[in-house]
Amino acid sequence: MKASFEGPINEIPNICVDNFEEKNKMAYFLSHCHSDHTVGMMYKVESEELRKKGGKIYMSKESEIILLNNHWSCYNTRLNEIFEPLKVGMTYTIDIADGQSFEVTLIPVTHMIGAVMFLFKTKKHRVLFTGDFIIEENDVPNLEKLHDKQRKLNIDTMYVDGTFDQSDYEHFPRRSDCHAEVVSEIERWLINNNRVVLHQTYAFGYDEIYKAIKKRLNLNLYLDDEQKLRTYSALLGNENFVNDDSSSKIHICICERNNEGGGWTGVSNYTLNEKTLHIYISAQRGCNYSHGDPAISPETDSGDRLYLCYPTHCSRSQLKHFINYFSPAKTVKFPKIPMSTPGSWASTPYRRNRDRERSSTDANADGVKRRLF
Ligand SMILES: [Zn+2]
Ligand SMILES: [Zn+2]
Repeated sequence: MKASFEGPINEIPNICVDNFEEKNKMAYFLSHCHSDHTVGMMYKVESEELRKKGGKIYMSKESEIILLNNHWSCYNTRLNEIFEPLKVGMTYTIDIADGQSFEVTLIPVTHMIGAVMFLFKTKKHRVLFTGDFIIEENDVPNLEKLHDKQRKLNIDTMYVDGTFDQSDYEHFPRRSDCHAEVVSEIERWLINNNRVVLHQTYAFGYDEIYKAIKKRLNLNLYLDDEQKLRTYSALLGNENFVNDDSSSKIHICICERNNEGGGWTGVSNYTLNEKTLHIYISAQRGCNYSHGDPAISPETDSGDRLYLCYPTHCSRSQLKHFINYFSPAKTVKFPKIPMSTPGSWASTPYRRNRDRERSSTDANADGVKRRLF
């Protein structure tokens, strides 16, 4: 796995964020638990280097729960020596070597459960590390910790998530619309059928969909992976999840890209012996999305395979708005290479029809122009 961010924060020597490959730092920060942000952490956990120096890895309490219940559950006792969970929304003073200290504030963000931005403040600099995030334009003034009595803070350097900083991803659907659409598709399907499979791109990041299903349809979710079940039960309450596939109508599984077919292959071991609605969730489905398009589009006319474009990062226009709003003196975008444009698999009958209609409208408009000038 390639790291999304290199780690060092130039304004604060001795720390690294979302990358654990550098040695000899005293404090490491983790914005959230996706694996492109934990590169090198395994070494830190196994080696004595950080432990001996009394160095720490700081993260939100929720991120710690995810790590302890998943990949590194076998290290539990030793992890407690170097993991330092912090409360979201709080500001802490961190002392590092040679009497240096700085403040850090954890700001909650929508991306995956436990994800935060880090706002660092030293005597000389105010630095914002966004981690991966998504925020709609209207919500930016509500980021309380980035304002002082409703005035936006001056930020010297912003390290910012530019994953979808590409013209193909100018807009994404609103998350609230995604939730409403997915809930109504599920509801409609379950009137006459019994099963729905949600195919996720990543293991974490879709908890708001789960909450919407639970809230609006009061359905429990089946997770086919013990670790995920344990983790989500700890984070969202075990009354919402089951580990018996016969007692739930909604199955959650992680799917793999099928390069040959250009589609997705579910890896759930659930046997498809009932009429099942498959919903494939991916932000990349937002390629060439326009406002007003549905978030869900069918793959085929059969109606049992749907694609949900579900944003987990800012669209390009949201990113531009966020940066312009704070106008930091310096901006560093990561990852270095933004998300690639998906191949033909991102195209759906809806999009193809839409594009066909648009190009014929454009052709008509061109004809009118030519006649006028
Ligand atoms: Zn992420
Ligand atoms: Zn990432």
